[in-house]
Amino acid sequence: MTVFRAYDIRGIYPSELDEDLAEKIAKAFGTFLPEGATVAVGGDVRVSTPALKERVIAALLSTGANVIDVGMVATPMVYYYVSSQGLDGGIVVTASHSPKEYNGIKLVGKGGVCLSWETGISQIKEIAEGDEFREGDGGLEQRGIEDAFIRHALGHVTVDGRKKVVIDAANGACSLVAPKLFARLGWEVVPLFCTPDGRFPNHEADPIKKKNLAHLQQRVRETKADLGVSYDADGDRLGVVNDRGEIVENNVIFSLFAQEALRKRPGAAVVYEVVVSKAVEDTIIRCGGRAVLSRVGHSYIQSALIQQKAALAGENSGHYYFPENYGYDDALFASLKVAELLNAGPLSARQREIATYLTSEEFRPPCPDQRKFTVVADLQQRLAAAGYQVNTLDGARVILERGWFIIRASNTGPQLVVRWEAQDQAAFAEIGRLVEETLAGAGVPLHGA
Ligand SMILES: [Zn+2]
Repeated sequence: MTVFRAYDIRGIYPSELDEDLAEKIAKAFGTFLPEGATVAVGGDVRVSTPALKERVIAALLSTGANVIDVGMVATPMVYYYVSSQGLDGGIVVTASHSPKEYNGIKLVGKGGVCLSWETGISQIKEIAEGDEFREGDGGLEQRGIEDAFIRHALGHVTVDGRKKVVIDAANGACSLVAPKLFARLGWEVVPLFCTPDGRFPNHEADPIKKKNLAHLQQRVRETKADLGVSYDADGDRLGVVNDRGEIVENNVIFSLFAQEALRKRPGAAVVYEVVVSKAVEDTIIRCGGRAVLSRVGHSYIQSALIQQKAALAGENSGHYYFPENYGYDDALFASLKVAELLNAGPLSARQREIATYLTSEEFRPPCPDQRKFTVVADLQQRLAAAGYQVNTLDGARVILERGWFIIRASNTGPQLVVRWEAQDQAAFAEIGRLVEETLAGAGVPLHGA
């Protein structure tokens, strides 16, 4: 399997991604950028990150690019720095929320926009394979960006009163910055797993998996905190626990954000992708906003946010994009926005403002890369022919009377992505059966072969 993916470069270290390959990719990136470019380079806490980062920096310098080494940082801090300073690009050495065996490279373009396959990665892969790079002698400097980042983030939130937050950084890249952020807000901070450790010894650094929030839930209850927040290893994905120690689903957080954003900018657009709960769409419509559906994927969401001059964008996986934060996804910034929600009451009360659905887990039945798009195209046709209301923007999103389901091809692996929601238990079971039958008909069983 190749390490070049739809939105980043990722693989097991060192068998799939080692220093030599990282060097090639960075040289290709330096060649891809305009001559004399200035690039920020940061990295996460992984054990293999310093060695990879060193080679990345040396490679960029050898192409004549000037490098600002911003140290161990969360990914959105690099987006921030590239955006706010008008740099030509950035590189983050990180495998995001992937397990400790992995590492990777996120390539950032002008304006802090993460490069995707279409906007750069495919071209950079080609340059890397061609093995011919620009030669030059760039300059290197080191710069701490944490203070500037914190000042910027705090400039966009208004939080009343002193409350208590438990911060679970999963020993990842938010370990140091997140407690400072909340302390500067005047809150009492209970740090949990806020020591950087690339072995992620306490739990996997991915808040989308509920089991990874168990410690946080317990500590919130023990300390009677008002809020618990958890970040993935590189700080662009957020998990939230309320004042009762209960997990607040991403679609509820997204809906509350949408409500606030539309209160400030009535009638504005809010962008969400095809896997996101209907609760979000309902909220946008109830609040008088324009519900804008996007394909799944960082770059599609970011460009929709810009094109639609939207007040907010979000993903089912806990990535949130605020236009006042340069339009990139940032879990640190989003966690401050959660703190802001508490101005109007405890989170456990606020979440009742959102009408939710019964939601299935996100199933990922295996389906080979060469087949997955054909399978989905066939399904789109068959379901439409059977009289269903099918949205084909990204996969088959089927709207039913008492719920909906989606079957789409994953952007990142040999699998489909399947999810459904319903108003009540009976409809939930019924839609589940329909999904299972539909997939069985396509030769891709829901629960795998
Ligand atoms: Zn991440």
